[in-house]
Amino acid sequence: MATKKNTVSWPPAPRPNPRTTSPEDRVRPLHRWQVAEAQERQLLRHHQSANEQRIARIAEANTADVDAAVKAARKAYDNVWSKMPAAERAKYIYRIARLLQEKARQFAVVESMDGGKAIRESRDVDVPLAAAHFFYYAGWADKLGYAFPGKTPSALGVAGQIIPWNFPLLMAAWKIAPALACGNTVVLKPAETTPLTSLLLAELIQEAELPDGVVNIITGAGATGAALVNHPGIDKIAFTGSTGVGKLIQKSIAGTGKSPRSNSAAKRPTSSSPTPPSTRPSKASSTASTSTRATCAAPAAASSWRKACTTKWSASSSTACARSSLAIPLDKNTDIGAINSKEQLGTINKYLKVGVADGAEMYQPACDLPSKGFWCRPTLFLNVAQSARIAQEEIFGPVLAVQTFRTVDEVIQKANNTPYGLSAGVWTDKGSKIFNLTSKLRAGVIWANTYNKFDPTSPFGGYKESGYGREGGVHGLGAYLNLN
Ligand code: NAD
Repeated sequence: MATKKNTVSWPPAPRPNPRTTSPEDRVRPLHRWQVAEAQERQLLRHHQSANEQRIARIAEANTADVDAAVKAARKAYDNVWSKMPAAERAKYIYRIARLLQEKARQFAVVESMDGGKAIRESRDVDVPLAAAHFFYYAGWADKLGYAFPGKTPSALGVAGQIIPWNFPLLMAAWKIAPALACGNTVVLKPAETTPLTSLLLAELIQEAELPDGVVNIITGAGATGAALVNHPGIDKIAFTGSTGVGKLIQKSIAGTGKSPRSNSAAKRPTSSSPTPPSTRPSKASSTASTSTRATCAAPAAASSWRKACTTKWSASSSTACARSSLAIPLDKNTDIGAINSKEQLGTINKYLKVGVADGAEMYQPACDLPSKGFWCRPTLFLNVAQSARIAQEEIFGPVLAVQTFRTVDEVIQKANNTPYGLSAGVWTDKGSKIFNLTSKLRAGVIWANTYNKFDPTSPFGGYKESGYGREGGVHGLGAYLNLN
């Protein structure tokens, strides 16, 4: 019997060849964010950190723009979002999470072009974690009563949210996901040097068909942030950024009834204590201090090594620094990308001079730096005194200040002797030593025999000058609810 020949012709659609498409082509939609009515608006020129080429022009929102955003958020809260069943709200948040996964590559490329961080980090950390936060909080939306037994949780209203430049998309997810799950509407302001993934997220949220006004993104610098903080229509201010600005915001909202939450600057120790497993801690400290150009708020910025191990670990740390690949952010082999801005590079260079002037020994690998863009070699300081400014103050660059200790009491005393308390890391060989150290360190998060592990189910936040309140986990919900 003759077999019938299949005559259906269905050729595959032509696919763009990534090798013939430049990164600039792939983010061409950015030009849509250029504001047409330039003469009527203050525009911020926006450059890539790695080569100083202009990538977009961003509107600086004035008080009228902020007012319009807050009013839109209020209207959406009163008319739609607060009345919607929680399970319906959850569906929208799930949709955001799924779309973010679908567009992960685009978000990672834009994040790295914008802020200068290595694509390996934006691709493997920032974007998947951002999606994970939306998934996690979507699950809580209709279970808030179980999160706070005996209470009747209700939304606060309109949340004003201000974020820094070191994890632009992830910080937006940290703030927007729990706020929406709890039934609030949002006005978010990204940092002036990294607004692009927040704007891309705004497009994605439109695509997810969230009701108009539920999420509003305004761009601009400190003045725009201050206008948002001082707007009378805001019920809550959530801020992540430097301690100085955090304190200014607290002063502004004192006595206004606005609910505050602030996560601020950090200077965190890793301690390699009495018998660490190998040279892993020194390599991990070096990696943690250079990953995200140490502009994770939880960098291993200060490291204490047991005195007897110093020679071995300083050799292994300097090798780790020397082997780090400092190159263009979009190269997937890059370990350390560009510094976010000229101002931040200036701050780091100032601290390098201060460290040397205070008597510490400075080591940097002899690698060439690109002639354009903002770049800093990974830097190791040895023989750092406890009183030195590079041990006490936040540098926020790929710089590791190393101190030594002889006893466990000494390392605890040194690690706690800074104004900050965001996170810490402990490297040792026994669980009993881990429990002893971690129960005495004054830090919001402490990692044992690892570093910089983040999860949406786990609360994150600091002590002392590193702020108050927690983001992530059930704790992250409490900040966006009235708990009566
Ligand atoms: P920053 O304080 O300069 O700016 C943060 C945000 O506040 C930006 O959006 C900025 O435009 C806005 N802002 C500035 N002045 C303002 C004002 N007067 N009123 C309202 N808003 C204002 O911080 P940065 O340089 O963007 O970020 C780096 C800092 O963030 C570091 O100190 C780092 O430790 C900290 N950080 C902390 C955490 C944490 O979890 N504790 C996480 C990430 C970053």
